Formats: sequence, structure tokens, C-alpha cells
Amino acid sequence: MINFTPAERQIVLQLERLKRQAGSHSPSIFTLRQKLADVDIKVDACFLSNPYATELFIEYFNREILETGRMRDLMECYPSQNRVIAETLADFLRVDRRRIFIGNGAIEIIQAVIHNFARRKVIINIPTFSSYYEYVKPGVEVVFNLLKKEDHYELDVDEYISMVKSHQPDTIVLINPNNPNGAYTKVSAIQRILEELPFVEQVIVDESFIHFAYEDESYGLMSLSHLASRYPNLVVVKSMSKDFGVAGIRAGYGIMSPDRVETLLANGYLWNSNGLAEYFFRLYAREDFARRYEEVRIKYILENLQFISRLKQVEGIKVYPSMANFVLIELPAGIRSADFVAKLLITYGIYVRVCDDKIGLEGQFIRLASRSSIENDYILQSISACLDFSLVKELENEQVD
Ligand SMILES: *Cc1c(COP(=O)(O)O)cnc(C)c1O
Repeated sequence: MINFTPAERQIVLQLERLKRQAGSHSPSIFTLRQKLADVDIKVDACFLSNPYATELFIEYFNREILETGRMRDLMECYPSQNRVIAETLADFLRVDRRRIFIGNGAIEIIQAVIHNFARRKVIINIPTFSSYYEYVKPGVEVVFNLLKKEDHYELDVDEYISMVKSHQPDTIVLINPNNPNGAYTKVSAIQRILEELPFVEQVIVDESFIHFAYEDESYGLMSLSHLASRYPNLVVVKSMSKDFGVAGIRAGYGIMSPDRVETLLANGYLWNSNGLAEYFFRLYAREDFARRYEEVRIKYILENLQFISRLKQVEGIKVYPSMANFVLIELPAGIRSADFVAKLLITYGIYVRVCDDKIGLEGQFIRLASRSSIENDYILQSISACLDFSLVKELENEQVD
């Protein structure tokens, strides 16, 4: 158990209230700064982004937009239409432009795809990103495939294939790497799923963390985008928020069959981007930016690897295997995740995610993001200190009992 002073207890209650108001997501850092003015937030390890990629984007943005006065254009003019932005990505992604659908963040694509195409039955692996089951329309059945704790919440592909065959859904969802644990399924295994399950009308693969995953030490990108022409049922969903560190500008895209893109565009989404997002997309497709991004991507992957291996040495916690820029951590018995998160925030100014709202997790878990190497050092020290404190309290309580 973690003890709090009465003043701290107030903050803990306020934090729990804010979390409830944010539903199955976390309150933003802006909300926390506003509502918890007494807490000095130093590190946001809740949001899962690559800070070096954000810095790279800002460098370009300052040079090409702010310092040139082009900001006025971005605000005064309409952004390009969905199809036009899609076209700017086609060559870079090596995907036919008619297969690309631009979203105001991936969340809009998830909503569009789930609302329009999931008509009968959806299979979703849990624990996972909640929007996939929350956005299902009334009358559509949701079947949860419970990932097993003893498998570290990793997908057992053979079991999954036979489970899907027996349920005959029209839609299945794979998040790769998965959120909240970062478990990764290899491209060859996903291809096996696609080969074995041609009757599933939509195989949604969410690659929002794919830039952090790799299968060998060349760290090459493992995206399935190029397979969309081979598997007409494949729908790839891609958020730019995490691996490009630009959640605030709301940019994502989907890759799917041209008829699906047509159906969606016939229903709206004409100017769903904005000037800043369009600037980002054009930059993303540029060779000079891509080269610079590749450097910060690999730098961050390597630092992240180091962070995870050091975390694994911290006594008392269990760190689940991850191929993303965050880890799922199971806390020692007797420590409530909400208390641990509050303690980290109040005493050390580190914001991490409680996972007690995630369906499918058994135990007390937090999800911790990797930040810059300096911040990671601070996070490691603080977690150890916070655990020592909690475990000492635990021993004291036992002696009193
Ligand atoms: C964060 C996240 C999204 C949403 O991304 P946005 O582009 O910011 O809307 C989608 N899928 C997964 C798995 C995520 O973690």
C-alpha cells in the first residue's frame, strides 16, 4: 500500500476523477496542467511518441513555415481535398493512390471503417486499444479473443486462426505492435493469417507503432501496406501521432481497396485534414525528410532497447516483452496501479498510464513510454525510488499487522 498525506490524497482523488472523465483514454497533459496546478509535471511518459521526431518536424516547420511567413497560407486557405493529399503519398508509399484514405488522425479512420464495413461480427484481441470495440454499431456482435497472461499477452497465431474459422466474423482487428503491451506479430505470421482467412471481409491491421518494430538488426520498416493489392480484404490503419510525435496535428491514413475508399469519400471526409496536417503529409513523402527521420527513428529504437533492458533489471516489477516504444509493467502484489501512478506524478512529476480500465489484463499494471535518454534516466531512478518507498511501507504494514 502507498500512503499519502491529506493534501496528496486530494490530488489522487482529482486524478481519478479526471481519468473517469477521459473514459477509456487518458486525460491530456493540458488538462492535467490546468486541473492539477500544484503538480509540477516534468516528464510525460503516458503519451507514446518519439520526441526526436517531434524535434525534427519542428525544425522543418520553423524553417519552411514560420520563418517564411507561409503560416498565413496554412490558416487562410482550405487544405487540399482528401484524394489530393492521398496522391502526394502514393509514390512514397508505393501504393496506388486510389487505395489511400486520409484521416483526421487514425481514430477517424477506425470510426469510418468500423461504422461502414463491420456489419455482423468483429473479433478483437484484448487487452487492446479500446476504440475498436467502442465504435462498433449497435447490432454488430463483438467477440473478444482473450490474449493470455501466460503467453505475455502475445498472439498465438495458430489458435487465433482456428478461433476465427469457428466464429466466422466479417471483421477482425490486429494491432501490430499491440497497445498497451507492445507485443509484435511477425509479417510472415500475419501473412499466414491473411492466407488462411480469405472469407473474413475486413482484416484490419493497425500499424500505428510499426516504425518502432523490426525483425533484424538492419531495423527495416515492417509495414504491410504493399500487400493491400494482393489481399483485397486487408485494411491497414496508420496513425502518425506516435512514431512521428505529432498527435496535435491529427494525421493518419488508411490503405484499403479502392471501392472502400470510394464508399467513404461518397459520405464526406472531403476537407477533413487541415493546413498543418497537409504540410506534414507532404513532408513525410519527401526524400530529405525521410532520410532525416530514418536517423531519429533508429536512434530512438536503440535508446528504447536500452531503456527496456534496464527496466527489466529493476527488482519487484515484471516488464512484458515489447516491440514498441513503451512497456506494460506489472506491479508487485499489494500496490494499486492508481496509487503508484499518483505517487510517480506527485513526487517525481512523471505522468504514466494506469491500466486498470483495460479489459483483459489480470493484475495491477501501468504502461510506461520511453522518452529521450535523459528523461529515461530520470524515469528509471524515480521508478526504483517509488518502488523502494512502496515496498518498505509494505514491510512496515506487515510488521504492524
Ligand atoms: C493512438 C492510437 C490510435 C489513434 O491515433 P490518432 O492518429 O492520434 O487518432 C489508433 N490506433 C492505435 C493502436 C493507437 O495506439
